Amino acid sequence: MAIEIDLISDTATRPGKAMLAAMAAAPVGDEQLGEDPTVTALCERVADLLGMEAAVFLPSGTMCNQIAFLVHCRPGDEIVAAANSHVYGSEGAGAAALAGAQFRTVETSDGIFGGAAVEAAVRPRRDRAPRTSLVSVEQTTNRGGGAVWPVERLGDVAAAAERHGFAAHMDGARLLNAVVASGASAADQARGFSSAWIDLSKGLGCPVGAVLAGSQGFIMEAWRWKHRLGGAMRQAGVIAAAGLYALDHNVERLAEDHANARAMAERLAGVPGLGLFPERPQTNILFIDIVEEGPSAVVVAERLRSEGVRLGVEGDRRLRAVTHLDVGRDQVIRAAEALIRAVAAG
Ligand SMILES: *Cc1c(COP(=O)(O)O)cnc(C)c1O
Repeated sequence: MAIEIDLISDTATRPGKAMLAAMAAAPVGDEQLGEDPTVTALCERVADLLGMEAAVFLPSGTMCNQIAFLVHCRPGDEIVAAANSHVYGSEGAGAAALAGAQFRTVETSDGIFGGAAVEAAVRPRRDRAPRTSLVSVEQTTNRGGGAVWPVERLGDVAAAAERHGFAAHMDGARLLNAVVASGASAADQARGFSSAWIDLSKGLGCPVGAVLAGSQGFIMEAWRWKHRLGGAMRQAGVIAAAGLYALDHNVERLAEDHANARAMAERLAGVPGLGLFPERPQTNILFIDIVEEGPSAVVVAERLRSEGVRLGVEGDRRLRAVTHLDVGRDQVIRAAEALIRAVAAG
């Protein structure tokens, strides 16, 4: 059966008619030569939004993280990050494979930590110790259940990095979800960070793209890596136009996705055999845990598929639902009801 309600990720969005029209109408040029006016406009806009000097357009969020690591770290360096972070577990060990850096992980359930955890993770300055050169945070935390870092904690982490003379990086795949959920501006959240990026292909609904921001010097170095890795493009205004469209039209509405995730959690609350993480979603991510006596996550996901609903399988007993602009309130409630039936079937 065709998937009608796709909650596998907020990457499941399709560009709508108005976005496609904006893409078709975009003025374009050679991006590698800095001649694509639409890409230039997008980069200036995101740099402003994040309170940074400059920005570079990249094909994906993963490339934003990897290029940031390549610029900030040298082989043998260490990056402090949450143990459940995307950079540690979901990017093919890119930090090790590309930048030659290893992680020092911080254990947290929601992916959020403070300056004290950074202090505790910093290595003593000894020849035999790895050099701590970066701390990386994820706003919002994906495997932390879409939790929003409070601005004070972000500032706390950035200050700890500064005290020790290393850089702070923000994986802002869903930073704008955090902006909408908390009311704190993206610039306030990124203050004190050397680099930060937003994904256009997640909740913003674009087919492709991400924008990495930082100082002029950082972005110059990032451009070198963009060329090396084959991320420099040509008439990329066609895809950058989707990003500009999304920043105009798809940011405020993220509040609907958050309300839909909460509605789904409310529908599932108290259902025997199910546990929720978090119990009340702050943003658009909800994990659903199935008790030991119940069917496995794979079995439940298969049953859901036969009803046209797709959830992510995150573990033997864990499913993930991510709300986005292509699913409405009725659909998330229908998904919750299908899930209740699938688990009750034993
Ligand atoms: C999706 C995601 C990424 C990677 O972004 P892509 O555009 O899919 O490469 C990085 N970090 C987090 C937290 C994400 O959710």
